[in-house]
Amino acid sequence: MNSRTRKLVPQHREATRIAAESRCLICDAYGCEPAHFPTHRGMAGGKAGWSREEWVPLDRDCHDLIDRRLGVSAAIEERRIMALLMLEERAPKWWRGTDGTT
Ligand SMILES: [Zn+2]
Repeated sequence: MNSRTRKLVPQHREATRIAAESRCLICDAYGCEPAHFPTHRGMAGGKAGWSREEWVPLDRDCHDLIDRRLGVSAAIEERRIMALLMLEERAPKWWRGTDGTT
């Protein structure tokens, strides 16, 4: 049974639509992409989905930072930790404040 892919696609499309109309939770830039938080896809062994509390809107720069696509220097890692702390604070508020209609 391989219904997983079929189930994920509409949710991901919806997440992409909402993120495109949202501000980045880290730097406030408008026009984002959905990023897995708090469970990174790699850490969850590919189990992370796209339901409301599995992702946050991030612009491309912050998404790259969180997903370590900017490298792993000490300076980058420090920025990344700061960003993750902000997400921990802001993500629950964003999840509560967004019902998909705004
Ligand atoms: Zn950002």
